Amino acid sequence: MREGETEAERRRRWIEREAAKTQPKTVRCSTCGKEVDEFMEIAGRALCIDCYLLEETEESGAIEMRGEGSGGG
Ligand SMILES: [Zn+2]
Repeated sequence: MREGETEAERRRRWIEREAAKTQPKTVRCSTCGKEVDEFMEIAGRALCIDCYLLEETEESGAIEMRGEGSGGG
């Protein structure tokens, strides 16, 4: 008969669990509420990439993207 876990193994599992806690988790975007892995921080707020680009565009004065560049391809 064998024991399932030794003390050392139990300890190792506990360490693994603790390590998992410190791993980065998803952050909720403060604008749209979407949970994302990658985010940008602006003025202490976490923004997803989409909202970050939106804010950046607004800040830089609503870049207009019309005129050239409507080629078919
Ligand atoms: Zn967002």
